[in-house]
Amino acid sequence: MNSFLTRRKVLKTGIGCILGLVAGLANALPASARETIGYTIAIKNVHTGETFRGVYRVGGYYVPRAFRQINHIMRDHRSNDLHPIDPRLIDVLAKLQKRCACAEPLTVLSGYRSPATNAMLRKFSRNVARNSFHMKGQAADIRVPGKSAGEVHQVAMSLHGGGVGYYPRRSFVHVDTGDIRHWTA
Ligand SMILES: [Zn+2]
Repeated sequence: MNSFLTRRKVLKTGIGCILGLVAGLANALPASARETIGYTIAIKNVHTGETFRGVYRVGGYYVPRAFRQINHIMRDHRSNDLHPIDPRLIDVLAKLQKRCACAEPLTVLSGYRSPATNAMLRKFSRNVARNSFHMKGQAADIRVPGKSAGEVHQVAMSLHGGGVGYYPRRSFVHVDTGDIRHWTA
């Protein structure tokens, strides 16, 4: 590797360390102060009860330590398979949480799905897509405590962050970072 690249890498790693440290310190602060330092999110896996609450992004830097936890919480709870979650999905969810003014964690019904899980679910529901964005870590099925699925749907639609699916019978909303499109199941 040439010295320029090495220097750049060291510099990048150094900046990453500093921003990671900033995020770590921010997570020790009260919620109101945290938000002035970074982008925050609170999510909870409905199946496992595992929760992440804190800073996941500082400026344009996505905090790896936060994403290690987020990837774990949003794993395929059936197979325990992990997949990196698209940071843009967390941006959409964080915006949604802010617009809903909900202090409690967003409830995640489904995050990443392994191909095997997706194929199994497809046998039971025609609403499960063959090439689901769930299999790419780019989708989440959520509920927001204190809000109806209809209200969450309206907020999700206003964000124009990608795909939005409304599932009124099961009271949840699907959001993904694919093309902007929408449907009601
Ligand atoms: Zn979904």
